[in-house]
Amino acid sequence: KSDSTYDYIVVGGGTSGLVVANRLSEQKNTTVLVIEAGGSVYNNPNVTDTLGYGKAFGTDIDWAYETTDQEYAGGSSQIVRAGKALGGTSTINGLVYLRAQAAQIDAWEAIGNKGWSWKTLLPYFKKGEQLQDPAKYPVLDGSGISFDPAYHGFTGPLKVGWPSTQLNDGLAQKLNATYQNLDVPVQFNRDPNSGDMVGYSLYPKTLDYELNIREDAARAYYYPYQNRTNLHVWLNTHANKITWKDGHEATADGVEVTLSNGKTTVVKASREVILAAGALKSPVLLELSGVGNPDILSKYGIATKVNLPTVGENLQDQMNNGLQFESKKSHADGKSSDYVSYPSAVQLFPNSTALGADLLRKLPSYAAQVASANGNVTKASDIYRFFKIQWDLIFKDGIPVAEILLSPYGNVYSSEYWGSVPFSRGSIHLSSADPTAAAIIDPKYFMLDFDFEAQVQAARFIREVFNTEPLGDMAGAETTPGLSTVPADADDEAWADFIKGKYRSNFHPITTAAMLPKEIGGVVDTSLKVYGTSNVRVVDASIMPFQVCGHLQSTVYAVAERAADIIKGRL
Ligand code: FAD
Repeated sequence: KSDSTYDYIVVGGGTSGLVVANRLSEQKNTTVLVIEAGGSVYNNPNVTDTLGYGKAFGTDIDWAYETTDQEYAGGSSQIVRAGKALGGTSTINGLVYLRAQAAQIDAWEAIGNKGWSWKTLLPYFKKGEQLQDPAKYPVLDGSGISFDPAYHGFTGPLKVGWPSTQLNDGLAQKLNATYQNLDVPVQFNRDPNSGDMVGYSLYPKTLDYELNIREDAARAYYYPYQNRTNLHVWLNTHANKITWKDGHEATADGVEVTLSNGKTTVVKASREVILAAGALKSPVLLELSGVGNPDILSKYGIATKVNLPTVGENLQDQMNNGLQFESKKSHADGKSSDYVSYPSAVQLFPNSTALGADLLRKLPSYAAQVASANGNVTKASDIYRFFKIQWDLIFKDGIPVAEILLSPYGNVYSSEYWGSVPFSRGSIHLSSADPTAAAIIDPKYFMLDFDFEAQVQAARFIREVFNTEPLGDMAGAETTPGLSTVPADADDEAWADFIKGKYRSNFHPITTAAMLPKEIGGVVDTSLKVYGTSNVRVVDASIMPFQVCGHLQSTVYAVAERAADIIKGRL
């Protein structure tokens, strides 16, 4: 193996990596190697079980990255999960297939990424997708499912749809009535994947309806194509760093890897090295390869190949909390449904206009706080621009400011939720020149008070929903946190212990190798090429310049589909 040369080496056989490897190897004269630290999980029931969310957590296919102690959020560290397997995080995630509000992707272009907008990404959402039409499955009749075919693909590799275990007991319709009865009603949204997410919906999942198993990136993009002789995958192989051609220019010529037998070797790439190791690994691989902030690299004895100080900055995630209520009725075993609502600022905040004005005044100081936390590597004036765009998205474009899930099981209604667009930004950097050492991950959860206010207000919103008929009559007492822990009329302060003590990472880290113009802190350009290199790209969640209101995977798949066309020279 050690003396082979490939045209392209894709580092990370996860959600994005397998898309790119598949599309590049469609060209018969092009050789592609995928390097994946994990193994195959084709027959792993913790992966395949569509009702098994969480079963893989803490097992050997979970990287379980740990953050630093979070000083603005109760002082404890958090575990940020990510899949270590062929298929990456798509093998352990919650299957949710929800995209973004169109305006959020348009903001990618507005900040300077020409060619990246909802209009140019929608064809790639569709290209990857194989929506299994629920009309073909009578068992789903009455479940309340709907979609608009104009926004979906039906022939792509990735199966998306609703499971046969979907409840059709009338709850969907009762929830709809409940949302209509709110003081500020939330309307039914027939298809939240249409670029307009606001409203109440039933969303599709990445699953194979016929087999009733999870659909992950490996099942969609690798296994059906594994006989291609020009597509190789090395499992249980750890990428350590990029190797460079001699000379001034930063031109990658391979990747140093540690093979499954423990031997370290270099595998050569004649055209490009493509990083797809995830938002909590790709920036660290850049740093290990000498691409980053010289002050950080020199601490660990790594020579700077490309001076690009914003590698690993701008780390954004969301914070997840959950409320629970008793259900008067017991829900059938082996059935599961999830209902989502996406309130806009006007629907979530009783005083939206005043709150928006107040937040606008605070943005300069928010930006200064983020900049000073990272030693002004990201400039306050640039962060302010990002924040002003985010403010416009919230208060002018009316994007969702929270995601509220409702899942009935047994005698419980569980309602997980999160503010969709926190402002806090942290960082990730290496802690050693040892490629297996844990990185220093600091998302700075709850650093900025708007993030906390949104998280509190979403909890109040959920309480209102559960106090509104007909759901109000179907639900019993609130068991988490419960009115004795957080009283009905609790002010923000009274919510703090619960929210900051019980939150978890929402597992949606992004922006650690941001696609942005270089002068405002970008790590990759609009062709996803790392600034200062001639042939290194990043194609995973790291490049997303702003958070999206859906979950990440659909956007990760679409970005990778588009990346493949860029690499093939089609765009
Ligand atoms: P990944 O899919 O993580 O791929 C990275 C790959 O690189 C992995 O296979 C990894 O093993 C490999 N790798 C890393 N380092 C190395 C190295 N040094 N050498 C070799 N290989 C390496 N999104 C949704 O849309 N819906 C959901 O329901 C949802 N739920 C989620 C639940 C959880 C628990 C988690 C963790 C995430 C969830 N997400 C969800 C988010 C979404 O799944 C991820 O954002 C997305 O899959 C990330 O894709 P990626 O290509 O960036 O990285």
